[in-house]
Amino acid sequence: MAKTEKTTRRARPAEPLSPVLRKRLAARLLDWYSRNQRDLPWRRTQDPYAIWVSEVMLQQTQVDQVVPYYQRFMNAFPTMAALADAPRDAVLKVWEGMGYYSRARNLHETARRIVEKHDGQFPTTYESVRDLPGLGAYTAGSVLSIAFNQPFPAVDGNVQRVLSRVFRIESDPRKTPALHQITTSAQALIPKGKARDFNQALMEIGALVCRPQPKCEVCCWSNDCRAYQEMPDPAILPLRAVKKPRPHYTIAVGVIWKGDHVLIARRASSGFLGDLWEFPGGKLEANESLEACCAREVREELGLSVDVIAPFMSLKHAYSHFSITLHAFYCRYRRGRPQPKSASECRWVSIGKLSDYAFPKANKVLIEVLQKQGRRPATDMRRNCSRGSGVRDQRSGSVGLGV
Ligand code: SF4
Repeated sequence: MAKTEKTTRRARPAEPLSPVLRKRLAARLLDWYSRNQRDLPWRRTQDPYAIWVSEVMLQQTQVDQVVPYYQRFMNAFPTMAALADAPRDAVLKVWEGMGYYSRARNLHETARRIVEKHDGQFPTTYESVRDLPGLGAYTAGSVLSIAFNQPFPAVDGNVQRVLSRVFRIESDPRKTPALHQITTSAQALIPKGKARDFNQALMEIGALVCRPQPKCEVCCWSNDCRAYQEMPDPAILPLRAVKKPRPHYTIAVGVIWKGDHVLIARRASSGFLGDLWEFPGGKLEANESLEACCAREVREELGLSVDVIAPFMSLKHAYSHFSITLHAFYCRYRRGRPQPKSASECRWVSIGKLSDYAFPKANKVLIEVLQKQGRRPATDMRRNCSRGSGVRDQRSGSVGLGV
């Protein structure tokens, strides 16, 4: 990724593509695609619902990871009506582990809207698609072109990278002038009657050839690509504004036992990881011990007093915009009735039943360990943190950094 002062340079005005160049680029790309496209489950259908689901999943997740989730999702909700009818929790559970949960909530809400307003049929005009909640220009263009062969561009990150290089666009493609230039070019390149294949081919060459480190020597566009022909290293493009460092937070959470049950809380619907369940806890404050943080967060979140008994385990996790070190503690319920304050709901659940709920990835790791233990940790529950040592990582080889 290039991080230079060039990111402030303005995009050059779009130059009209000559018909000859346009035709040659399209023909070469379509020919390459016919020989190199991957066999992906969503390419075996023209059902707009299935294509929409796949496009939403692919927005922030790699193809290899998406395939099993897509198959699971389509098995659970094979039609627009099935998705619209499903409870929110069931949708989140099937999505669990893929991250960016707002995508699942938006899909669900939009499916309900399509059933209500469009009789369960995905709309076929650009305006009516854009009118749906959560459907931006990319998703509208990709579904309309792939499902209905309509000539709308579908400009995702891969396409931005490819066209920035082919047309040597030396400014950040996420900013308006460059994005406009790229979108105009993507639109102009679509050959008549071939939007479906062309848009998929453009995405595919970005995924397989014009990758962050491009394989120009095998690229069907190398003769026409300005970055390849004119620049010492095409990988310099696309230019990106320098990213701010990602903040890191320390989190303490409580695994609060009452008999054979533990307490879980549901996050508010709006906001990050909305509607997912978690072990109650939160961010460490300045000059606070982890144990005090755990007790305070449980009190603030659920109005409950607990004894923080012993460290359970620690792990690291990275989200897109920040990372965390999560310290989990065994806690004993002392008094008070759990009342969701910042949480939207809370429940006492047996360890075996935790799998019925949708949790964020870091909490899933805690659950796996709890379920392997299979019972309440009687010895640990007798030891009090205030007399014990600091937090230890209890997973073998354990501090993992996942996304
Ligand atoms: S020649 Fe290289 S930089 Fe240009 S489009 Fe092909 S892979 Fe990308």
